[in-house]
Amino acid sequence: MSDRIPVRLVETFEPSRPKMKAKSSDNQIHTRSFTGFFRTLRVAGAGVLFLAFFGTVWLNWGGRQAVLWDLAESKFHIFGATFWPQDFILLSALLIICAFGLFAITVFAGRVWCGYTCPQSSFTWLFMWCEKVTEGERNQRIKLAAAPWSLNKLLRRSAKHTMWLAISVLTGLTFVGYFTPIRPLAEELLTLQMAGVSLFWVLFFTAATYINAGWLREAVCMHMCPYARFQSVMFDKDTLTISYDTARGENRGPRKRDVKPAEAGLGDCIDCHLCVQVCPTGIDIRDGLQMECIGCAACIDACDSIMDKMGYAPGLISYTSEHQLQGGKTHLLRPRLIGYTAVLLIMIGALALALMERPMVSLDVSKDRGLFRENNLGQIENIYSLKVINKTQQRQDYRLSLVDSDGFQLQGKTELSLTPGEILDVPVSVAMIADKPQSSSQTIRFKITDSDEPQINSVAKSRFVAPMNR
Ligand code: SF4
Ligand code: SF4
Repeated sequence: MSDRIPVRLVETFEPSRPKMKAKSSDNQIHTRSFTGFFRTLRVAGAGVLFLAFFGTVWLNWGGRQAVLWDLAESKFHIFGATFWPQDFILLSALLIICAFGLFAITVFAGRVWCGYTCPQSSFTWLFMWCEKVTEGERNQRIKLAAAPWSLNKLLRRSAKHTMWLAISVLTGLTFVGYFTPIRPLAEELLTLQMAGVSLFWVLFFTAATYINAGWLREAVCMHMCPYARFQSVMFDKDTLTISYDTARGENRGPRKRDVKPAEAGLGDCIDCHLCVQVCPTGIDIRDGLQMECIGCAACIDACDSIMDKMGYAPGLISYTSEHQLQGGKTHLLRPRLIGYTAVLLIMIGALALALMERPMVSLDVSKDRGLFRENNLGQIENIYSLKVINKTQQRQDYRLSLVDSDGFQLQGKTELSLTPGEILDVPVSVAMIADKPQSSSQTIRFKITDSDEPQINSVAKSRFVAPMNR
């Protein structure tokens, strides 16, 4: 399979052009520092995401951790709301919406998810920043990698790995903290008393962060991420991708600042390789759109800074569409994108409605294995076990009843009071008070109703079995 996304044919390249080596002697890509609009945007986006990920887990709400997937109790708390296993269909719907949203965004603007918000990219940028702080700029890092071991190299490498490990441990702890209360978990870690399942998962996510962001980096995007493989089928000729303007840039070549490119038979690319040196995946965008490109826009910032120095217009590398590169216009409002957006909005609306309509009391019924029995009044009776869950954050009083109960009578405890989040098993029986059953197996419906707010209720169905020969 070719590595090239079949989006754009690469025109007019001289086969003899020397390629820049992406990796240095330590088999790592050492990117050069740069500044620019898209870098600022990415740092701001990653900052918000890191703050949300590392900060939310420490928030409390109503006396408990605000966001906690309590595996032991099978409950998901998110601020004031609690979700139960019965509600997990909503979670599946949310995941489908996220996947669909990703499709729609990819059709619109290519791999913006990868470039700006993907945790793999964000952590890799963070780890690369640690590398710069401890080992210096790109040239210093390349030299250090090639140099023999010395005290300086040892100290710099140790500092880098210490920073990487500190971030990895914090990430592992935070991740597990969304499933086990973070405060006791952190205390166990600090006092070295963590053990068992918690310790395993903290170590697992520590190792995953350290290896993925520290060592594997772009290899995860190229060889492990399925999204990189199927994204090309979502691109069309109006998708905004990061592209080099070949018509404007070629013929590339170095020149003095005061040389007029047209007079020297040159395009606007001065062949400085800055766009390659800042690329975290080590590719040359001038070779055309490639599978390795994660859409981070680092090459746009780098090239714009060169265009600025040379006194040329920015945008030699830019977000552009295939149509625009061919001299046409980008059609932002196209049927495919309108269709995706419409479906997405409908799905979001349906989920919001389902969330608002979510019953705050749950009722499940299971029939006793025995078919039927005769009570001391001579009536046919069936036994059931009801499970009631109070999904609210307050104590609630409920009333149990039968729906359309002609011919039947509910017997047992029908007035219930449940504490917040309580699950109560209620054994009840139903007696047939009619003379004759309508059939040997009839549907009966149980209903639980909040005594103060009757709109909070839930209904569960079962069967009533009776002999026909009475
Ligand atoms: S080619 Fe440009 S946008 Fe693509 S990964 Fe490299 S720097 Fe980022
Ligand atoms: S940064 Fe711009 S000018 Fe420099 S090589 Fe890349 S495309 Fe050419």
